[in-house]
Amino acid sequence: MKSAGRVAVVGAGIVGAAIARALTSDGFRVTVIDSRPIGSGATAAGMGHIPVMDDSEAQFALCRYSQSLWDELADRLPASVEFDRCGTLWVATDDEEMAEVHRKKQFYDERGLEARVLDSKQVAEAEPNLRAGLAGGLVIPRDQVIYPPCAAQFLLDEAVAGGAEVKIGTPVQAIDGRSVTLATGKKIEADAVVNAAGWQAVALTPGLVVRPRKGHLVITDRYPGYLHHQVLELGYLKSAHGSDHDSVAFNVQPRRTGQLLVGSSRQFDVSDPKVDNHILKRMIDRAVEYMPGIAVLSAIRVWTGFRAATPDSLPVIGPHPEIDGLFLATGHEGLGITTSLGTAALISAHLTGQDAAIDPTPYLPSRLMGGVAVHHHE
Ligand SMILES: Cc1cc2nc3c(=O)[nH]c(=O)nc-3n(C[C@H](O)[C@H](O)[C@H](O)COP(=O)(O)OP(=O)(O)OC[C@H]3O[C@@H](n4cnc5c(N)ncnc54)[C@H](O)[C@@H]3O)c2cc1C
Repeated sequence: MKSAGRVAVVGAGIVGAAIARALTSDGFRVTVIDSRPIGSGATAAGMGHIPVMDDSEAQFALCRYSQSLWDELADRLPASVEFDRCGTLWVATDDEEMAEVHRKKQFYDERGLEARVLDSKQVAEAEPNLRAGLAGGLVIPRDQVIYPPCAAQFLLDEAVAGGAEVKIGTPVQAIDGRSVTLATGKKIEADAVVNAAGWQAVALTPGLVVRPRKGHLVITDRYPGYLHHQVLELGYLKSAHGSDHDSVAFNVQPRRTGQLLVGSSRQFDVSDPKVDNHILKRMIDRAVEYMPGIAVLSAIRVWTGFRAATPDSLPVIGPHPEIDGLFLATGHEGLGITTSLGTAALISAHLTGQDAAIDPTPYLPSRLMGGVAVHHHE
């Protein structure tokens, strides 16, 4: 597509904001449309952990590429984004989980990503508030943390500085590859349309296999120095990608403010955003098992949000297989803050016809549409 073309991006979450920024810098005339304030969907609910995950080659490639893009941006991010390269500490409770630590270490070593195995004593030194007697852990030192809504605002501000137009308070009723129909009936014509509407993308693009997956988070009062890394149990992966059942996992994050962000839970087939006290209790109990002192910290806020989950745990990025001009950028589940920048670079490559830095194939919408869900290859 010619770079002077008009592109309408539906969704001003972190994914839509990153896409608007990338396309504006490619020379497109971009309009971003959202029914709600910037970054108030999953982007306001997310944890803002930017890890390089390893549960498939395609997920690793997109996370790693995206993290390198965050690294490039780091010096220019405003203080409000609270960028912190605090690293991730995966903790193991027993020998079986230590075997997983060594498997992960080998995976990262083979791909040239720094990872350090810690023994029981080193884990206790790294995070003195963890319970005694953990078997060990794995530190990924270059993993990062940001504050997602301010990051989305920053990306969108850069897009606006490059000429993008933003329409907030504007619900979209329908889209195709050439136009966006607003709830008011007004039409916005474009040469291409990007559906970056998060878990609600399905309402605008029927046939897309994306399900909402509810999550809870708790934030504490300020306890500077209490926690140094984003710390997760190794069981997190089972919780994130395992079964359809409700699950909780120990996942705690240090904020620049000294606050602790405590997660996380996963629930399918729940559309009610209200806090579920049963799940919340399970989540806190799990956190206390690993970090007993959490039990006496003050929590100041609890909230929920919805991740956009796909059957193969990979996002949906690229052209709609049947509708010319329509592009999809959703299905990021629990990694959309991380992979927003890589997603934007892939959408940019699709629209400009230039080569992408990573293979775009595993994320193409065609694998999940047209009636058959084709799983990616490891
Ligand atoms: C509890 C929890 C913890 C998480 N932790 C992390 C983490 O640590 N790291 C990480 O990388 N990711 C994390 N995530 C995932 C991350 O938050 C999401 O993947 C990411 O925010 C998705 O961004 P988005 O822009 O696609 O969606 P959203 O932020 O949901 O944005 C979509 C936008 O589209 C708009 N929209 C939808 N439909 C319409 C319509 N019809 N008309 C107009 N506008 C519309 C919405 O108003 C919304 O603003 C977490 C998510 C949750 C819920």
